[in-house]
Amino acid sequence: MQLLSETRLYIDGAVRRAAGERTYDTIGPWTGEVVGRAADAAAEDVRQAIAAARRAFDATAWSTDHSTRFALLKRLYGLLETNQERFSTLCRVQGGSALGYVPRAQLGMALGCYKALLELFPQIQWEKDYGEAGPPQYRSHRKVVYEPVGVVGAITPWNVPLYVNIGKVVSALLAGCTVILKPAPDTPGVGALMGELAAEAGFPAGVFNVVTGADPAMAGEMLVTDPRVDLISFTGSTAVGKRIMEKGAPTLKRLFLELGGKSAKIVLDDAPDFAQEVASTMLVGHAGQGCAVQSRLLVSRKRYAEAVEILRRAYAAYEGKWGDFDDPAQVMGPVISKKQMERVMGYIELGQREGATLLAGGKKRPDKGGGWFIEPTCFVNVTNDMRIAREEIFGPVLVVIAFEDENDAVRIANESDYGLSGGIATGDLAQGLRLANRIRTGSVSVNGGMCIAGDLPFGGYKMSGIGREWGLEGIEEYLESKVVAWRV
Ligand code: NAD
Repeated sequence: MQLLSETRLYIDGAVRRAAGERTYDTIGPWTGEVVGRAADAAAEDVRQAIAAARRAFDATAWSTDHSTRFALLKRLYGLLETNQERFSTLCRVQGGSALGYVPRAQLGMALGCYKALLELFPQIQWEKDYGEAGPPQYRSHRKVVYEPVGVVGAITPWNVPLYVNIGKVVSALLAGCTVILKPAPDTPGVGALMGELAAEAGFPAGVFNVVTGADPAMAGEMLVTDPRVDLISFTGSTAVGKRIMEKGAPTLKRLFLELGGKSAKIVLDDAPDFAQEVASTMLVGHAGQGCAVQSRLLVSRKRYAEAVEILRRAYAAYEGKWGDFDDPAQVMGPVISKKQMERVMGYIELGQREGATLLAGGKKRPDKGGGWFIEPTCFVNVTNDMRIAREEIFGPVLVVIAFEDENDAVRIANESDYGLSGGIATGDLAQGLRLANRIRTGSVSVNGGMCIAGDLPFGGYKMSGIGREWGLEGIEEYLESKVVAWRV
């Protein structure tokens, strides 16, 4: 496995080492061995990054000079494009992505969405005239101006690092905020490379900063509790999202939270290609480590046995089609870390204890390499009250639940603490759209419709989060509105 070059921090315009030259080893999920070394930010580094972002916001023209910002973000886009190969290597070697998953789901989606944000920029309304009003109040002319919220702490996960980093950093910078990005400890490389390229693009000192570190919580908690940071934009687990809410309360931090999911796909009996709809729900892409994946498959009791047979055959045919680092057709590799592997294996044991039937997979696969390989796994005879149906596993584990009729399917889909995404397969589009209106999630795909795009808002209901990323709505998360009125 190739060794990655050592990464640096990006603070106050400088690409540099951490205080005290601190570094930590990053472990490759394919081999379980060290694949590189990253800068390990100390508290002092984080404080410097916050001070730099604060100063760049308060004392420079960054927040008001829309055209300079736009030009720099376009330049950064160009540099990301020309460095795709480096990002690809990072997503594979450090992030555990399979070669067939990287071009579309790691790079293509991230860059396509970045481009969409640039295209949306001219549509941002910085000021809106509300005209005159009154009496009974004093007759006044009113306008609302939209201003960047200030310094943003962006805390991101490891699963799709380029996509999530761009969603936060580019939206916030386009809005006129300054940003401190804190990537996940397992995948520091993508964020660090973004910092390096921002420096190359000529970003003014302090507007964008990147702090990587081995400790998952230290830098993030500093951002959350520091009064100089105005908003935390977080993507990650619901548990950490709640902790951020708590810790952010004393400084009344503005919060934007993209959290976990346990989304359902409902395959109705009249779906035109029932077998394909069922088989394609196998949770294999990036070993199931996606927030919006449909990890609960809902089929009618009438066709349940048929669906189980389809899945049995599909899983059996998948052996040999995953876990090879060099195969460009494969979309599934290892899970991210040993800790994550043990967590997923814990759920597989739990499912069996809860009385679900293990239809396929369920084992670690050390024969695939020294890293963190778990078989594509499927549980049937699952009821929606089991923990494997309620909790986010974040691994290659699908659960299959029977419904009695459409109302029951909607009830099961909605009986979840989460509300991120979902899917419906049907032969009757009008019926599918009616059902979609009843699903309590931030997005619903009908007959494979694509809900994730740079010009569409993405986010969750319930415990899947607060706020929306991407689209104009995503940029507006980073704006405050101010009313100005004058007597006429
Ligand atoms: P995580 O919550 O463990 O970590 C996310 C980030 O938070 C990391 O950078 C981590 O270092 C940091 N962090 C950890 N403890 C912290 C603390 N106390 N204070 C501040 N920051 C802290 O999540 P993960 O394991 O990296 O990622 C997987 C999770 O992310 C899943 O739950 C998945 O659903 C979610 N996710 C959601 C979306 C979405 O858009 N809704 C997208 C991708 C991933």
